[in-house]
Amino acid sequence: MRFKKGDTIIITIGKDKGHKGKIEKIFPKEGLVLVPGVNMYKRHMKKRDEKHQGGIIDFPRALQLGNIALICPKCGKPTRIGYLVSKGEKTRICRKCNQKI
Ligand SMILES: [Zn+2]
Repeated sequence: MRFKKGDTIIITIGKDKGHKGKIEKIFPKEGLVLVPGVNMYKRHMKKRDEKHQGGIIDFPRALQLGNIALICPKCGKPTRIGYLVSKGEKTRICRKCNQKI
């Protein structure tokens, strides 16, 4: 998984193309990330009890990694993530400005 929690990403494809947000949760097995406020869908909830009245709620659907790009915190551009390996340690770098991110 190249992305980390807290990364700012931009959606590159689909109905929310161009929307930006911060990664809140990562699902490594599925290759998905959850970004609040983007890729919102409506879900119909059934009334369960007095506390849960049901109705239509908005919820964010997880995004596929192929549909997002990282926004580099150093240069502010959408970029691909690269890696530098030295002394067995992996460092993420921005492919645009080559800064550590
Ligand atoms: Zn950069």
